[in-house]
Amino acid sequence: MLTDRFGRTIDYLRLSVIDHCNLRCVYCMPLSGLRHSTGKELLTPDEIECVVRAAADAGFRRVRITGGEPTLRAELVEIVWRVAAVPGIEEVAMTTNGVLLPRMVDDLADAGLKRVNLHIDTLDPERFKRLMRFGTLREAWAGLESAIRAGLKPIKINAVITRGYNDMDVVDLAELTIENDWHVRFIELMPLGGGECAQVARDKFVSSAETRGRIEAELGVLTPVPRRSLSDESINFKLPGARGEVGFISPVSEPYCDGCNRMRLTADGKFHLCLLHDDELDVRKVLRSGGGQEAVEALLRRAVAEKPSGHQLADGVSTLNRNMIQVGG
Ligand code: SAM
Ligand code: SF4
Repeated sequence: MLTDRFGRTIDYLRLSVIDHCNLRCVYCMPLSGLRHSTGKELLTPDEIECVVRAAADAGFRRVRITGGEPTLRAELVEIVWRVAAVPGIEEVAMTTNGVLLPRMVDDLADAGLKRVNLHIDTLDPERFKRLMRFGTLREAWAGLESAIRAGLKPIKINAVITRGYNDMDVVDLAELTIENDWHVRFIELMPLGGGECAQVARDKFVSSAETRGRIEAELGVLTPVPRRSLSDESINFKLPGARGEVGFISPVSEPYCDGCNRMRLTADGKFHLCLLHDDELDVRKVLRSGGGQEAVEALLRRAVAEKPSGHQLADGVSTLNRNMIQVGG
């Protein structure tokens, strides 16, 4: 088990497999000006497996596949299959916009994928287009239905609340949890990358308190659900009579850095030590200069040891080198 210098156990790997996307959410990926990794720059399935083996040896138990949009990665099924087969890894989950999911969901489930978080910011088709820019709500919804059919449970929906774009839709999204045993999680905007997406995140920020107030005014009091673990970044509630749960992820208004259990691996092979800092260690360099699993594990131990205590958004500090699409959330 790896513990960092602040006493946090780090056992959760967020694995970005690509830094491109078929959508362009206004707070995540600019329409132009971003450079994406070439095929050669991306870690190969072999290299990814080596990192996950090293992580599992060091005590990591959970892996989340992310991106960019992970379903764009040609070798995704192979990657899931390899990661799920690593001894010690107990759960492989994925975060996706769902648009391409129907065509591969059965293969992913067969490969060992256990759960998906589906990113759907609004149930209004026009506002979906304005906020997530490409793809359609119909396609994203088909992705969600395909996940249900494939038995990937529980279904979690992520919605990033952006003033003027979808803050008026939070009641409709929360209402989904009344009839369905889904988790709908409302995420506060974070400014990453220093460019136009970071500006959107600053200008259009909506606090979880405001979102919660809006939901309770329409749908009734939210009753807290006991926390499953300290590292669960979502604070969860139930609406009256609901089958599912409503959650609030509030990195800005209520930072949860004290319970952080994460290490991030970028698609181009860097350990990114904290979502909201620029500190990185180059795994790809180690792998491509002849280093094997032991060398990767040594670098991972260093990455955990060097993890910052938390973010400093209140002091205006964030990652400048990467947009969210290049880190993976
Ligand atoms: N493409 C997939 C998706 O959209 O779910 C996976 C990658 S995406 C970067 C991972 C998560 O980051 C998504 O759930 C999205 O809601 C969230 N996200 C993206 N940009 C964000 C931002 N600026 N602030 C907060 N959350 C953000
Ligand atoms: Fe693509 Fe996901 Fe970023 Fe939206 S949040 S642009 S779907 S990577």
